Amino acid sequence: MVDLKGQYNDIKDIVNPSIQEVIEKTAFINGPKVHDFQRNLEAYLDVKHVIPCANGTDALQIAMMGVGLKPGDEVITADFTFAATVEVIALLQLTPVLVDVNEDDFNINIEAIKKVITPQTKAIVPVHLFGQCANMEAIMEIAKEYNLFVIEDNAQAIGANYTYADGTKVKAGTIGNVGATSFFPSKNLGCYGDGGAIFTNDDDLAHTIRGIVNHGMYERYHHDVVGVNSRLDSIQAAVLDAKLPRLDSYNKARQQAAKKYTKAFEGIDNIITPKTVSKSCDGICDTCDCHVFHQYTLRVKGIDRDALVKHLNENGIPCGVYYPIPLHKQKAYLDERYAEADFEVTNTLVKDVISLPMHTELDDEQIEFITSTIIKFINE
Ligand SMILES: *Cc1c(COP(=O)(O)O)cnc(C)c1O
Repeated sequence: MVDLKGQYNDIKDIVNPSIQEVIEKTAFINGPKVHDFQRNLEAYLDVKHVIPCANGTDALQIAMMGVGLKPGDEVITADFTFAATVEVIALLQLTPVLVDVNEDDFNINIEAIKKVITPQTKAIVPVHLFGQCANMEAIMEIAKEYNLFVIEDNAQAIGANYTYADGTKVKAGTIGNVGATSFFPSKNLGCYGDGGAIFTNDDDLAHTIRGIVNHGMYERYHHDVVGVNSRLDSIQAAVLDAKLPRLDSYNKARQQAAKKYTKAFEGIDNIITPKTVSKSCDGICDTCDCHVFHQYTLRVKGIDRDALVKHLNENGIPCGVYYPIPLHKQKAYLDERYAEADFEVTNTLVKDVISLPMHTELDDEQIEFITSTIIKFINE
């Protein structure tokens, strides 16, 4: 699905000395590389504060702790996402309220959000799934009307732009009160282990969060709030700081691969190719960066998705089903208030989605082999 070795070979001469420097200086925890990366990411995202942390799941949890959510508060999020999003809500004893997503962009559905708001609702967690932003303009409007926090799960969309109706562009993850991301190796900006970060333009919230990531300490050995230990280690920061200047070109490479996939599937009735919903974009994004293709996810119609997965694997083509089970059907998150009729889209998507190999090193020959294998399977 990803070619981390190929990408590493390309940047070895930059990454290796950077890692070596951390080791020579023995600045393993909160070393200068962490600070450099933080500053560089702030500049890249055009956001006032980046707070690095240990992984994306922590980033989400810390963001929720930072805005001061309390047990029993209801938090609305998408039914069709990776479990980390709902997991931290439940862990903090908040009440997850899962809602359906859109068919076109796989992101949280605005009407569905409106339907579940109660006096206990305190936050919305949009997930920018597969590399494309949720409808942030509508979400921010709802948040304003009902006085809710917005915490963006930006683990899959770092570097993507969100375009407002008036044409203003901002980076994904910097629109709500706070954004959270992951630097898991296969993410668009991945390190060589675990890593994550929290973004915000709110000075007070940034201060609160800096304490939370460090055992609730604002003054050495004074613990004002219950915190956690969540640090980005310096070796990971060295890798990330070397890769950050390449993020735009990495995302471009993903867009180019996506464009070639989509072109190859043109006119195949059984396949629905991924859509970009930004007003600034026509079809497949390679100009406005509204979609950075963390995943290239097809929907197949009238063919057996699982048989296709098997066929691809037999032909040495990796593929993934993200996600095979809706969160509202996962044992850990069952809730009697959910009605199947409210999850029509997610219930369909889990049966027909398939994600193809997507990374920065895909070449034309690989794309041609993957697409022709799929098309042959359909025509058989
Ligand atoms: C990867 C991911 C996370 C979690 O990130 P980790 O660094 O693995 O903890 C959270 N949300 C989404 C949508 C993700 O894709």
